[in-house]
Amino acid sequence: MKNGVKALLTLAALASAGAHGQPLVALDVGHSLARPGAISARGAPEFDFNLKLAQAIAAELGKGGVAVRLIGADGLADNPAERSPQAAGAQLLLSIHHDAVQPEYLRHWQHGGETRPYSDRFRGHALFISGRNPQEARSLHCAARIGGALRRAGFIPTRHHAEPIEGEARPWADYAAGVHYYDNLVVLKTAEVPAVLFEAGVIVNRREELLLAQEGRRARMAKAAARGILDCLPR
Ligand SMILES: [Zn+2]
Repeated sequence: MKNGVKALLTLAALASAGAHGQPLVALDVGHSLARPGAISARGAPEFDFNLKLAQAIAAELGKGGVAVRLIGADGLADNPAERSPQAAGAQLLLSIHHDAVQPEYLRHWQHGGETRPYSDRFRGHALFISGRNPQEARSLHCAARIGGALRRAGFIPTRHHAEPIEGEARPWADYAAGVHYYDNLVVLKTAEVPAVLFEAGVIVNRREELLLAQEGRRARMAKAAARGILDCLPR
């Protein structure tokens, strides 16, 4: 597509979303069909979990009078650097993911006739912001509100991203709310708008995978996350 046409289409999208003075939130569906992210203990791709949760949060935000722009919902967004520009004009970009663990924690089990890696060692959600995002304070404000709402709804954050080992050691930005700094995360550091990455749970954990696949629990989590988002948007 020619750049001029693309720019016009982008402007049209910006004008339509958030019309009538509604706040606008961009929900980024982590990974894609070709690069599906983590694989669960039972062999399901992370992308599927991310899409379902993003749709559930979008529905809750809609009920709260917020316009939502989904990024990567078609499963074709293979380049992470092309995601954050699509959040232009939003009051918040929330990137939705599901978690794995470092390879040294993986064990193997038989499931569905196949040998699959898993780890039951860690469970729970985590939130991340980047100190390289130009709106760090607003990002932290929103992450803390989302984390607080999740805790009040009974969800317990994992602490394993703070472990002082290679690949983790993410400093706390807000311990109680389960928020870490992860300065180099592409979708966060390249965003012009406040940005938060949400790892909703550990899908390589055999028990947590089943919980994360339950529709009722997903709806409860979506409702809590949306409450936190509504609470942090500028009025
Ligand atoms: Zn992911």
